[in-house]
Amino acid sequence: MKSIVKISWGSGKPVLKLATENGFEYLELEKGKKLEYELTTDRRCTGHFESRGNHVACPDFKQIDSGDQCQECRRKDIYTDWREGNSTPYDADYSVYLVQSSNNVKVGVTKTSRLQERWLEQGAEYAAEIISEVSGDTALEKEKEISEEGVSERISKSTKSGEADVTRLKSTLEKLGFDAEIQNIAESINCELKRKGRFPSPVEKVKGQIISNGRYGLILDSGKVLKKPEQRGLADY
Ligand SMILES: [Zn+2]
Repeated sequence: MKSIVKISWGSGKPVLKLATENGFEYLELEKGKKLEYELTTDRRCTGHFESRGNHVACPDFKQIDSGDQCQECRRKDIYTDWREGNSTPYDADYSVYLVQSSNNVKVGVTKTSRLQERWLEQGAEYAAEIISEVSGDTALEKEKEISEEGVSERISKSTKSGEADVTRLKSTLEKLGFDAEIQNIAESINCELKRKGRFPSPVEKVKGQIISNGRYGLILDSGKVLKKPEQRGLADY
């Protein structure tokens, strides 16, 4: 059993990092690669960062209900304060954005230079940058203000699937008084997006945390468990 950590591009080519009972494994995702996996809705802990660049696997490869870390790993992670909005890890230019996934709108903060990547990682269907290039602290304050106006900071697991209708994001932007451009994220990979099921194969395109075979894209949510498919489709023979 393995769980998704993330796709990274360190070497210039996409590589999928996976957590297992015995540490981490890496799967290259070059174009044409055949992938015999199925993404499930089960989740297993992906470990924690002991220091910058030092990722430690979860000792129990613990089963979890949501997210990508067990309580113990989250407690030990050096990035936890940042994720919970208590501090910024280092100086940079930050943006505040709204994303829509299914019919849920969420506010978030990321480095301005990482916006597109972040949206893809989150599996957003539509997104809009509402505040650009401010300090990390300012961005976090704004995020808090906006979430206090009733925009949730997290998309709950149970409502994460289904068809997205852009009007939800539009009306949230209007309600908050932001005149921001809405971007269609799914369109950037030009196909339907899925959150579970068979891995697209052979690999045609990898963008952010999405693998596509040209017909559909699979969003590789961190923490989700993949397994060997029980049944092979006819198209695979
Ligand atoms: Zn853990």
